[in-house]
Amino acid sequence: MSTDFYQLIDRLADTRHLSLREWETLVDSFNADIASYAANKALTLRKAVYGNDVYIRGLVEISNICKNDCLYCGIRHSNRNCDRYRLSSDQILDCCKVGYSLGFRTFVLQGGEDPYYTDDVLCGIVSSIKSAYVDCAVTLSLGERSYNSYKRLFDAGADRYLLRHETANEEHYKQLHPENMSYRSRMECLKTLRKIGFQVGCGMMVGSPYQTSKDLAKDLKFIQEFSPDMCGIGPFIPHSDTPFKDFPAGSAEITCYLLSLIRILKPNILLPATTALGTVDAFGREKGLLAGANVLMPNLSPTSVRKKYSLYNNKICTGEEAAECLRCLSERIKKAGFHIVQSRGDIITATKGV
Ligand code: SAH
Repeated sequence: MSTDFYQLIDRLADTRHLSLREWETLVDSFNADIASYAANKALTLRKAVYGNDVYIRGLVEISNICKNDCLYCGIRHSNRNCDRYRLSSDQILDCCKVGYSLGFRTFVLQGGEDPYYTDDVLCGIVSSIKSAYVDCAVTLSLGERSYNSYKRLFDAGADRYLLRHETANEEHYKQLHPENMSYRSRMECLKTLRKIGFQVGCGMMVGSPYQTSKDLAKDLKFIQEFSPDMCGIGPFIPHSDTPFKDFPAGSAEITCYLLSLIRILKPNILLPATTALGTVDAFGREKGLLAGANVLMPNLSPTSVRKKYSLYNNKICTGEEAAECLRCLSERIKKAGFHIVQSRGDIITATKGV
C-alpha cells in the first residue's frame, strides 16, 4: 500500500506535476520513512543544480510599524505591546555596509506595511544600495503595493520580491486575516510582480491555525502552477500578543517534508531554511538544508531592534552582532556538509539535465 506514496514521489520527480488529490495524498502520507525518501531525492536534485553551495541573504528588518492586522503576526497594527521602530535610510545603508564586508551579495529589506516608506523614500534607498554595491541584488519584502509602486521599485533597481501568498485557499485566508485584506489582491500582487520582471517568491506558514492537509495541497498545487523563483516556508509560531496566542506551533518535520516536495517539484528553486524553522527546532536550519533547502537569511538588522521585530515568540539570533551570527552559522553549515558562497545567488535556470 505505502509503495504508492513512493511512486507518487517518483512521478513528481519525473513529471513535476501532480493533481490536487495526489498532492493531498502526499501531504496526508507524511511519516518518517516517506519524509526521508523525499529528502534523499530532494538532496540529490539540489546537489545536481547547486552542489553543496548555500546562498546567503542579509536580512534587514527595516520597520515593525504595520497598517495591517494579520491575526498571526506579532507586529500587527493592534498589538499595543509592540515597541515600534523604523530604520532611516542611513541606518539601512549602514547595515548593508556591514553585510557587504562580511560577504553578503544580496540584501533583503523586510518590514511591516509602514506608510513612511513611500515610493520616493524606498526608491532612494534601493538606488543608493544598488549604486554603492553594483555586484549585489536587492530583494524587497514589504507587502502589498500598487502596480505603479512595484514598477518604480523595479526601475530603481530592486531585483527580487518576496510576498508569501500565506495560503492558497480563500476561505482559509479569511480565517488568518481581517476583513479588509483579501486573498485576491495578494494573488494579484504576485502576478503583477512577475509581469514587471521581478524574481518572485511566494510561500506559506506550515501549521497555521485552521490549516488542513487540503490547504497545504492547494499551496503545493499553487506553487506548481505559479512556478516561483523562490519559496519561503516556515512553521507557524504563536505570538503571545495576538489572537492566535493559544494555537500550537507548526511542525519542523512536516516543514522539512514540504521543503523536500517543493525541491522535487522545482529542482532549481531558491528555497530558504527559515529562521522560524531554526526557532522550533535547534537544528531546524541544518535539517532544512538536508531536506533540500539552499538559502539562509541571516539577520543584518542592528542588534538594538532585533527583538522588536517579533513576528512570533522566541525568535533566535536576536542577541549577536551580524559577524558573530554569520561565523556561527558557517560553522554549523560546514558540519552539515554544505558551504556558504559569496555571490548574488541568482536562480540557476539552465537545469543541468535534471
Ligand atoms: N509585511 C510583509 C512581510 C511580512 S513578515 C508582507 O506582508 O509580506 C514575513 C512573513 O513572516 C509573513 O509573510 C508570514 O508568512 C511570516 N510570519 C508572520 N507571523 C508569523 C508567525 N507568527 N509565525 C511564523 N511566521 C510568521
